[in-house]
Amino acid sequence: MTLLELKDVTAAYGRVQVLEGVSLSVPEGGAVGILGANGAGKTTTLRAISGVVRTGGSIVFDGQDIRGLRPDQVAARGIAHVPEGRGTLPNLTVRENLQVGAYLRKDRRAIAGDIDYLLDLFPNLAARISHNASAMSGGEQQMLAIARAFMAAPRLLILDEPSLGLAPSTAKSVYAAIRRLREESGIAMLVVEQNAHLAFSIVDTATVLETGRSVLTGTSAELKGRDEIRRAYLGG
Ligand code: ATP
Repeated sequence: MTLLELKDVTAAYGRVQVLEGVSLSVPEGGAVGILGANGAGKTTTLRAISGVVRTGGSIVFDGQDIRGLRPDQVAARGIAHVPEGRGTLPNLTVRENLQVGAYLRKDRRAIAGDIDYLLDLFPNLAARISHNASAMSGGEQQMLAIARAFMAAPRLLILDEPSLGLAPSTAKSVYAAIRRLREESGIAMLVVEQNAHLAFSIVDTATVLETGRSVLTGTSAELKGRDEIRRAYLGG
């Protein structure tokens, strides 16, 4: 079943039209990537879903039109967004960040269970449970941002360039954890990623954006087999 469906989504910053018609869909439990050059509109597409920018077209989540809802309303429907450049609260500890992530939940026992699960998934976070987020490395902060979003118990996790600014080995371990999170939780994911090698390591399908339009959608295997994708995103 389709969980999220965008049809002909448009968006502008002031008078500058940035999205001209983006269509994509994420199945229940599926993982979908968004590829595209700098400025193609990837981040804006995610912000359109989360209600941060105003949009035209249609955005349907779990059978209901969510276009025009405020970010907090979108979050309450079950969409958690990890923004580009991380999403942690720097002056709170690791544990406090995880607890804040669960602020809409009341199931204390399940919250405690999820924290234990995440500390097992991300041993670096376990080792720094009482440290402030600001004291951690970039990779650890990215892991914490993902873990914090997971604490909301979302049905869809939106990730904006989880590898941004990380050393290649760190980016790899962040993706390994995302992959395990996906396999173990069955949570649906929508991932923007410049590094297509990393994106293809977790997504089933991807949509390519060019100047604010979706121009190509296919399975990871189909896309990896196409010359223009190899040239533009996979280094030849
Ligand atoms: P990148 O990988 O560089 O983040 P992107 O594909 O995510 O690229 P967007 O960030 O969605 O692209 O930006 C699309 C276009 O909108 C770009 O031309 C960008 O300069 C412009 N833009 C982004 N944010 C704003 C803003 N707040 N105000 C005005 N223009 C913006």
